[in-house]
Amino acid sequence: MRTVILGSGVIGVTTAWQLAREGHEVVVLDRQPVAANETSYANAGLVAPGHALTWSSPRAPKILIKSLFQDDQALRLKLSADPRLWSWCMKFLRNCTSERARRNTLRKLKLCVYSQTALQELVAETGVEYDGIRKGLLYVYRDEASLERGIANMAILREAGQRMETLDRAGVAKVEPAFESSRAAVAGGLYCPGDEQGDSNKFTCGLAERLKQRGVEFRFSTTITGFETNRDKVEKVVTDKGAVAADNIVIALGSYSPIVGRKLGLRLPVYPIKGYSVTLPVDGYNATPEVGGVDENNLVAWCKMGERFRLTATAEFSGYDTGHSPSDFVGMIRTARELFPQAADYERPSYWACLRPMTPEGTPIFGRGRHRNLWINTGQGHMGWTMACGSARITADLMAGRSPEIDTTGMIYGTA
Ligand SMILES: Cc1cc2nc3c(=O)[nH]c(=O)nc-3n(C[C@H](O)[C@H](O)[C@H](O)COP(=O)(O)OP(=O)(O)OC[C@H]3O[C@@H](n4cnc5c(N)ncnc54)[C@H](O)[C@@H]3O)c2cc1C
Repeated sequence: MRTVILGSGVIGVTTAWQLAREGHEVVVLDRQPVAANETSYANAGLVAPGHALTWSSPRAPKILIKSLFQDDQALRLKLSADPRLWSWCMKFLRNCTSERARRNTLRKLKLCVYSQTALQELVAETGVEYDGIRKGLLYVYRDEASLERGIANMAILREAGQRMETLDRAGVAKVEPAFESSRAAVAGGLYCPGDEQGDSNKFTCGLAERLKQRGVEFRFSTTITGFETNRDKVEKVVTDKGAVAADNIVIALGSYSPIVGRKLGLRLPVYPIKGYSVTLPVDGYNATPEVGGVDENNLVAWCKMGERFRLTATAEFSGYDTGHSPSDFVGMIRTARELFPQAADYERPSYWACLRPMTPEGTPIFGRGRHRNLWINTGQGHMGWTMACGSARITADLMAGRSPEIDTTGMIYGTA
């Protein structure tokens, strides 16, 4: 069984792992010269079931409208004539009722928890290195009112079994001593001791190397341009380097899945939501937080990755533009300097911007369209690192005709 996987981000490579393990002959195609060179390159690194709240909530419409009129570092909505943006926003708004937000959050949480276990099992089996740290994650709040709101918002996760401790500012500094010098800047936080962190780029590249040793073929610098079909079967993937024959195909192209999928009649409700990330060297600095987390007021995430310190922020609706300038990073660096003045060399930043493949519900899309051998694994949005290994297992189960180990209601293409 020759399976061609489209995309070598964390989703494509974990899928390749799962399928190779189950005996498929696997070929992975990607336009980049190496694996994980787009969104999976420089994300926040948080494996965070504790952050599974869906973005579409009753508060979201007001926040979106406000962002049209203010220059906000956290959320930037630029209105354009793009019909895909309007269609996505309409679906997003339909998911902003409290009932749907609750349903979508619980689905996300279940997948995140399942996926984290799958990640841990994969790491134990392969020994892949990824600067992982298993000390939990901290979600901190700057004032009492936001801490109270955070506790109320997160209650749904706690009630569903997510381990979560409420901390005052002394408690935050006890969990992460890097907060000693900035205690006064936070009112407290929520600590999820089971959450973890690591570098998804290092993980994906390391896993790709292991897959190559197992005979999986990676064809890099290869752009997918179309397909050859015969009735309800896709026979070949057409690329700028020639056609590739396949028994099965998995589409794992992140934000580009809808563009390529459209060539086969798929209507994938995935929209690119841009995020910014900056990586700083930590050599010579001794107060880098080991416990990653999120400043929930400024929506800035932080994460130590080996000898690097990563910050990410911003959800920007600006189509497929991945450009950036130093001014895009000023706010997140200011936040980090305030919380962690001695964490890293803030004068030596490496900047990056990339696109979260977001669905209106916040849950990914699996299953297939009208072509019986074309499978979908995409739309993991702001949590693709967390959801990758579980999504790979679900995809492999569906392809094998098995029932996935968790309920995938609402995540199967054409049934949402
Ligand atoms: C700022 C930021 C912070 C984030 N933080 C976290 C976090 O802390 N935790 C978490 O769980 N998730 C996080 N995420 C989300 C996570 O990074 C993504 O969900 C995940 O990387 C998506 O992986 P993917 O494989 O679907 O997409 P990608 O990594 O983008 O991979 C898609 C691949 O498809 C290839 N491709 C596209 N079109 C073509 C074509 N036509 N031909 C050939 N190849 C093509 C691309 O080259 C790319 O390699 C964050 C995202 C951002 C932007």
